[in-house]
Amino acid sequence: METLPSGTITKMFNAKTDKQGNSKRAERDLIALGIAVAAIIMFVGTGSSVLPQIARNWIGVGEGPDTILVNALLLNIALIIFGWRRYNELIAEIAERKKAEESARLLAETDPLTGCLNRRSIKSAADALIAQQLPQERAVALLMIDLDNFKLVNDLNGHSVGDSVLLQTAERLNAVLPENGLLARLGGDEFACVLPFETHHPDIVESHIARIFETMAVPMNFDSHSAEVSMSIGIASTENDIGQADRTQSISTLMHQADIAMYHAKKRGKNRHFWFDPSMEKELRFRNDLEAGIRRALSRQEFVPYYEQQIDLETGSLTGFEMLARWDSPELGSIPPTIFIPIAEEMGVIAELSEMLLKQAFEDAKEWHSDLTLSVNISPLQLDDSWFAQRLLKLLVAHNFPAQRLEIEVTESCLHENIGMVRNMITSLKNQGVKVSLDDFGTGYSSLGQLRSLPFDRIKIDRSFIRELGDDESGVKIVDAIVSLGEGLNIPITAEGIEDERILANLKKLGKFKGQGYHYGMPEPHSHVKARLATMGLLADRRPDDESSENFDGEQGSRGSHREAN
Ligand code: C2E
Ligand code: CA
Ligand code: CA
Repeated sequence: METLPSGTITKMFNAKTDKQGNSKRAERDLIALGIAVAAIIMFVGTGSSVLPQIARNWIGVGEGPDTILVNALLLNIALIIFGWRRYNELIAEIAERKKAEESARLLAETDPLTGCLNRRSIKSAADALIAQQLPQERAVALLMIDLDNFKLVNDLNGHSVGDSVLLQTAERLNAVLPENGLLARLGGDEFACVLPFETHHPDIVESHIARIFETMAVPMNFDSHSAEVSMSIGIASTENDIGQADRTQSISTLMHQADIAMYHAKKRGKNRHFWFDPSMEKELRFRNDLEAGIRRALSRQEFVPYYEQQIDLETGSLTGFEMLARWDSPELGSIPPTIFIPIAEEMGVIAELSEMLLKQAFEDAKEWHSDLTLSVNISPLQLDDSWFAQRLLKLLVAHNFPAQRLEIEVTESCLHENIGMVRNMITSLKNQGVKVSLDDFGTGYSSLGQLRSLPFDRIKIDRSFIRELGDDESGVKIVDAIVSLGEGLNIPITAEGIEDERILANLKKLGKFKGQGYHYGMPEPHSHVKARLATMGLLADRRPDDESSENFDGEQGSRGSHREAN
């Protein structure tokens, strides 16, 4: 991001050729100095004999001066004038050179856009500050400051607004900086601030950070734009955990630690600050291991689909399965999707991962009875891709899987991003026969208006509400309220997380639903699903009504026709 101002390279080149010129000039200056000194000595010599001759001749008591000596004297005078001029030139040259050196130093030590120190100069300045503070038993804190979503500001408003944001940020940070503090722009939208403080008083640093957040909370105004800019801050200090100044800390270690703490602040939702803690380093290492593991897992096809049964609670019959991703890493062990899905999203590989699972799931589900549906979870990020619907339909065709049997589950969180695009996506999927459910209903903040405007085929009440049904009356009231909301929207409902008989009984009192949960068994791999379906006569090549099968009021439920209510 950081660029040298144009002309810097030429200046650097000029500086080099200047150096060569300087040494030549210095040699010449030495000769000029020698000539001038010799001229002065000769002037004294010739002057002392010629001048009295001239004086005597003027008052008419002697002969005229020797012409050769007069000429030598005149030459001496010329040489002295030459020396004097050269001396003056030299003084001017030295002043010029000093100025050039000063601006070269400034160029090397400051950030051209904001005028703050740069990455290189803050290191030496901070090392000097640490060396000065430590003997006084004082500590130094390093704040690593990174603007949140700066790329978005740049993309939406252009780079000149981006530059103004950086400039204003630097001005604001500078305005609250204590006299003995340092401020640097490290590059891009990253700043660092170094603050000395009394050991045992990290509150001084805390109050400084409070001032930073306060000043940054004021929106920035430009000609026709205004931007609200927040920042994430990581802090590391030379004060160790027993409150003493740690003499082993260098600025490089502090920067590394503050960077980790800043990254932690970003992960925890941005616009906040964290002090470095060694556990963060472990967490970061684990995360790096996970990222590497996910890349390997993608190439080695380690992600596999598991299936959770979905039941019509009224009839007790099996209606289909929800596919849930599983990853048993040879290096890292079994990692739950709640961990690896968000990381895959951040790494930008969620579409690839999802496609790998969908392909396997389509092939698996083709072996089931054609009445059984397949539900799959789709990340909100995938919906951001305007080609998602096309890609999915292509996949369906390639695997010869009927769109009517597929149900996409999206969470409420995706509705906040770009509701128009989500609406288009849902509509084009529905036109092809794919159904779309709203997952984890009740946990997001979508308005009724938003929900009404989107043509969902089904809503799934989040399992956190269903669990409450096992506890007390208030749990029943909450689910009842959510159910009424769904009914008001006139959309069928699935209850997820049915864990026991009691929850199931309470749920059944509230209306007609589909349901799923550990009460019906844990999610299982396809080999188990196939065995289950075989005993129920629900494999693709068999007619479902040929055999009697299990009643799905529970694992241990009474046996009967799986379609008893049909
Ligand atoms: P979800 O879509 O809400 O999936 C249901 C989760 O609840 C699953 O957890 C399932 O194992 C668990 N569950 C099912 N019945 C019960 C129950 O009775 N009690 C309790 N306590 N939990 C139950 P899992 O498999 O860990 O998945 C967690 C989340 O990860 C899913 O939540 C879904 O949002 C996401 N996920 C899973 N697979 C995929 C995938 O292939 N793609 C995407 N984008 N997300 C996925
Ligand atoms: Ca789901
Ligand atoms: Ca869910």
